[in-house]
Amino acid sequence: MPIKLGIIGYGGMGMWHHKNAPKVKGVDVVAAYDIDAYQIDVAKKAGLRGYDKLDEFLKDEEVNTVLIATPNDVHKDLAVASANAGKNVIVEKPVAMSMKEIDEIIEAAEKNSVVFTVHQNRRWDKDFNKVKKAVELGMIGDVYTIESRVHGAGGLIYGWRNKKECGGGMLLDWGVHLIDQILYMIPNKVVRVYAELFSVLNKDVDDYFKLLMKFDNGLSAQIEVGTFCLKPLPRWFVGGNKGTLVVDDFEGHGEIVKLNKLADKFDAEIVETTAGPTRTFAPRPEEVKDHFELPDVNTEWIEFYENVRDTIEGKAELIVKPDEVKRVYSIIEAAFKSNYIGKAVEL
Ligand code: NAD
Repeated sequence: MPIKLGIIGYGGMGMWHHKNAPKVKGVDVVAAYDIDAYQIDVAKKAGLRGYDKLDEFLKDEEVNTVLIATPNDVHKDLAVASANAGKNVIVEKPVAMSMKEIDEIIEAAEKNSVVFTVHQNRRWDKDFNKVKKAVELGMIGDVYTIESRVHGAGGLIYGWRNKKECGGGMLLDWGVHLIDQILYMIPNKVVRVYAELFSVLNKDVDDYFKLLMKFDNGLSAQIEVGTFCLKPLPRWFVGGNKGTLVVDDFEGHGEIVKLNKLADKFDAEIVETTAGPTRTFAPRPEEVKDHFELPDVNTEWIEFYENVRDTIEGKAELIVKPDEVKRVYSIIEAAFKSNYIGKAVEL
């Protein structure tokens, strides 16, 4: 059965789905609902049936799947209403404003026997998949630390993203992607979360945060999101007991560095820094290091909609599963709590 998609919230991301979802065989976009008359007009001009009333949109019999791309605070009510109207539901990230809201969506989807998933599209990012593959293949040995960061320079956050009551702020906006990537890569249990949130240039919401996750195998993952960083650090830094991996950007440029056989012959000598000596931090000479390319990956975002289509047809299991969405949210809730109490939260 082809997906006949109806979009709720025909703004930036709603239009993005309209442009990209039909690239997948068996996916058509047919209708849109928005509270803004101008956006409905834009949808109509783009060839969709445009609605200004939710109940009329949900009565559109051709629509069998709804994509919700509104501000975050209204996702839950719209998702529950769509499921109750018998539509499969795809919700943009972050799925909702609390674990209780996620449970309400899952309950409505189960009661109505419809598919429910979340657009965690950054599972298909090239940079992430290179790191995931290198970690899984043990290319740098046993990994003890993963740092995942996005540093932007703009500083200011606009529109509803700058309002706490709409679900704004970077922990919900980008944290949800970066946490999802780490949990998708590391299946172990998270035992501890520590987070600090800052409002550097934006008063109402977090525009910089640091988050530490400790896993039960000892691995430590750090996520850092900053909107006002004028000298950005690389996208990924991963340390293993056999080498170091760095990814510079979203395109996945970077490398793996390991020691070669000459390393045995290298005796670290004490170096003098401006105010004292050190042997531990004496640099290794270039001839004892080998540089390797990151693994090749073949990732196509369209797999997201292919998987939703195949799941609706009963031919596949969801890639983005409701339980995984809940696991990500449990880290987000722990991070907000940790920031509030000023201590780590044990899970
Ligand atoms: P936006 O402000 O550009 O668009 C939101 C649209 O929703 C607007 O047209 C607005 O009129 C409409 N709207 C608001 N309240 C509504 C309601 N109650 N009912 C119907 N329509 C309503 O926002 P955006 O940047 O498109 O973000 C929308 C969602 O998409 C957010 O949840 C955001 O986190 C997510 N998003 C995801 C990605 C991604 O890569 N997965 C990227 C950007 C945004």
